[in-house]
Amino acid sequence: MTHEEKKHKLDVLATKMARELTYDLVKGTKHCVPGEGNPDADILFIGEAPGKDEDKSGRPFVGRSGQLLRSNIRRVGYKEEDVFIANVVKHRPPENRDPTPEEIAACAPYLDEQIKIIEPKLIVTVGRFSMGKFFPNEKISGIHGRVFKVVWGGKTYYVFPLYHPAAALRSTAMKQAFEKDFDKLPKVIEWIKSGAKTKVDEAKEALF
Ligand code: URA
Repeated sequence: MTHEEKKHKLDVLATKMARELTYDLVKGTKHCVPGEGNPDADILFIGEAPGKDEDKSGRPFVGRSGQLLRSNIRRVGYKEEDVFIANVVKHRPPENRDPTPEEIAACAPYLDEQIKIIEPKLIVTVGRFSMGKFFPNEKISGIHGRVFKVVWGGKTYYVFPLYHPAAALRSTAMKQAFEKDFDKLPKVIEWIKSGAKTKVDEAKEALF
């Protein structure tokens, strides 16, 4: 698919999810927050759900957590426009409570479609809810900062779980862990682009 075709499909999908999602979250919110970025991105970041600032603007990761995420994207050498940023849940849960399994399930087909259109080289899960999409039985403390090969929707993707920046904002140790994991990102991309030849190649086998 060309850049333009991908862009068009993502735009159509964004309109579709705003129209079709009818769960209770819609009632208290101003915007559906589908995600934004480069339709041809090598890296797709997937967060949890929009917060207050995201609901207000309709854009993902623009509040305090978002600023930390975005500053780290720039710090390791990428532009925000190079990547794509989305969330597991597309509307803000009231009082920023955890999304429910039902809300996650309602949004899953749209997120899956975004993954399918973008075909990223690497999916970076941000926080435990997006990690749970690919690794429902794992704990983020056990698998953050490692790369996994996952077959999703019949295609192979590499997945790199990170702590959520909101956790990094709450503790210095978490912030250090978050940044240490982030530092690996360019090397991970380089490794994938080079054909991911070194080391093992099995599903769920941790690399790096
Ligand atoms: N936290 C998230 O997980 N996503 C956002 O878009 C904002 C904050």
